[in-house]
Amino acid sequence: VQRVNRGILEILQADLTCLDGRFVADVRIAVNANGRIAAVGMDAGAPQPVTRRLTGRALLPGFVNVHSHAFQRALRGCGEFYPAGMGDFWSWREAMYAFVQRIKAHEFKRICRQAFEEMLACGTTTVGEFHYLHHDDAAAFDYAFDPLVLEAADEAGIRLVLLCCYYRTGGVGDPLQTGQLRFDGRSVDTFLKHVDGLAAQLDRSRQTIGLAPHSIRAVPTADLKLLHQAALDRGWVVHMHVEEQAREIRECRKALGTSPLQWLLDNLDLGPHFTAVHMTQSDETPADRYVRRGANVCSCPITEGNLGDGIGPIGELLSRRPDSVCVGSDSNIRLDMAEELRWLEFAQRLRRQKRGVCVGSEMSVGRQLLRCGTVNGARALGIDTGRIEAGRPADFCTLDLAHPALTGCTAETLLDGFLLGAGGDAVREVCVGGRWKSVR
Ligand SMILES: [Zn+2]
Repeated sequence: VQRVNRGILEILQADLTCLDGRFVADVRIAVNANGRIAAVGMDAGAPQPVTRRLTGRALLPGFVNVHSHAFQRALRGCGEFYPAGMGDFWSWREAMYAFVQRIKAHEFKRICRQAFEEMLACGTTTVGEFHYLHHDDAAAFDYAFDPLVLEAADEAGIRLVLLCCYYRTGGVGDPLQTGQLRFDGRSVDTFLKHVDGLAAQLDRSRQTIGLAPHSIRAVPTADLKLLHQAALDRGWVVHMHVEEQAREIRECRKALGTSPLQWLLDNLDLGPHFTAVHMTQSDETPADRYVRRGANVCSCPITEGNLGDGIGPIGELLSRRPDSVCVGSDSNIRLDMAEELRWLEFAQRLRRQKRGVCVGSEMSVGRQLLRCGTVNGARALGIDTGRIEAGRPADFCTLDLAHPALTGCTAETLLDGFLLGAGGDAVREVCVGGRWKSVR
């Protein structure tokens, strides 16, 4: 007798399951002992009985937060007093640098864990941690904070893509300033030796790694080319802050004679492995050329709103390629994936005075936003999570169908109802690689 169910850990069934943006009743999901989905369907895993009946719940793929600086969670509520008209990204950055100079290792790990737990609590099961605060002692050049990020993620139980950041200059061609010394990458060789060592320490079931040259202001172009090639050689993703601020573009034009995005288009072999974070100040034409290469854009609408960064050409990029845009929580001033996603659409509505900008070919806001918050993010991070489908990791979140904010929602309206009108507090459980955690 063929034992088709060998290795099956459990069989799930929620009231409603989100398959490709549609809620379907009575779907069974068989999960393997290796933390991956074995089968999805009305009789998945049969004849075995359902072992985890999620009554009163809707099951969704876990969300993917592509861009976080976890330690900045500690700055929530800070830097919000302004001399009239003086507050901007750069004044916020000064507040962040002051904090960076005094943070201790034990505080750093505690704050990271807090941020990761809050992410899980709003249904986020994967984080791309763009990690640049490396050294406990800048003079010792110790990279003491790097293993702490891995430990914090492991203890919280979140899937982690460590985007190890290289930071070399304080502005295009300028030396590092005092507040930046703990970020120093020193040289590409030294940095890569460190990252290769770190890659060997990962918990491979839930952790992977990528390279993050910080930005055109913080990385010399020669180093940028070397890092990009090193990532390609290793099969790693590359993430970089691109055109968040008009000043960055002005400085780049002055030093390199072109905009950051145009420099990338002219000098790197861009593709699906590359993600530009923000692009809030990017012109439509180079932005369109960029996504035609298959590369990704990570928008961080809540942080961009908080910092006054501007509104990128997201609607245009999504109409070119519905898989081009993903989202991140960046400064972690607010951690709520539904809210992050709704602001992706709302900022476009405010800009154009039109509704339904991020809709994709199905003309559905909810389905397009869900894609941005799940599979598009997984693509940008080079992992295969983000969809409830056989073979993919068992990464889920559940919604409490009895939550007051979801009252009146039907299977047809639940996705938009949750993403536009509810939030993280409707999430009850998350599952990362087959491991469940109750978050409320
Ligand atoms: Zn960032």
